[in-house]
Amino acid sequence: MSILTIKNLHVSIDGNEILKGLNLEIKGGEVHAIMGPNGTGKSTLSYAIMGHPAYEVTEGEILLDGRDINELATDERSRLGLFLAFQYPVAIPGVTVANFLRTALNARRRADNPDDKGISILAFRKLLKERMNMLKMDHAFAGRYLNDGFSGGEKKRAEILQMATLKPKIAVLDETDSGLDIDALRIVADGVNALSGDDLGVVVITHYQRLLDYIKPQFVHIMFNGRIVESAGPELALVLEEKGYDWIREKYAE
Ligand code: ADP
Ligand code: MG
Repeated sequence: MSILTIKNLHVSIDGNEILKGLNLEIKGGEVHAIMGPNGTGKSTLSYAIMGHPAYEVTEGEILLDGRDINELATDERSRLGLFLAFQYPVAIPGVTVANFLRTALNARRRADNPDDKGISILAFRKLLKERMNMLKMDHAFAGRYLNDGFSGGEKKRAEILQMATLKPKIAVLDETDSGLDIDALRIVADGVNALSGDDLGVVVITHYQRLLDYIKPQFVHIMFNGRIVESAGPELALVLEEKGYDWIREKYAE
């Protein structure tokens, strides 16, 4: 089981401090939700976890299983088992979903075992089919260029397909619910729930309570102005649904 520990994290973009001392701990098998108004730094947190070069950690630590990962490049973090489903996935014309996933999967396998020869094409096809069936995706998806011309919902499903194929230890889903209709939401949630039973630790970032009707978090955190200001059980999401964020703005106004 893995543990991601974030201690007193401060992150700046172009010299502007966005995260201002954020603490969070995620263990394998746990589902955490982070909610908060737009512009409070939720995506900044997810980029900082993955090591986006524009997001400078000025203070604090990000530890995976006790190891400080601050100096590691994004691909190294991915190989260690961290995963981010983007809020705005990028299209990669010319690279098919299948090719992308097989290459990424093989890189992950080699990190665990340097002698790994890579998954056979046949075994990979079988795996991909299984995962696509789980997410109720048309198999034709595998042959399309990654995110190229995908609808909002298709992009989100492609992100979850990546997660289901790579089997990370800790996954951050950044507003995976936006652009999904109820059916797609349920499918995505089923996928996440199936994997979290498998020891995956999940951070679900969402603006709305709706996704949490389908993905049941044990922990709900409210983020405001670059910090986590409230943490509680699932009941906290219901409070937000009822009262919105105004009470948070008043309570934590600077
Ligand atoms: P959230 O995901 O909670 O809506 P973000 O992390 O996207 O919030 O943004 C937090 C703040 O950081 C906002 O004020 C936003 O304008 C700023 N910000 C985010 N990304 C960048 C960037 N690449 N360059 C400059 N400012 C940014
Ligand atoms: Mg965001």
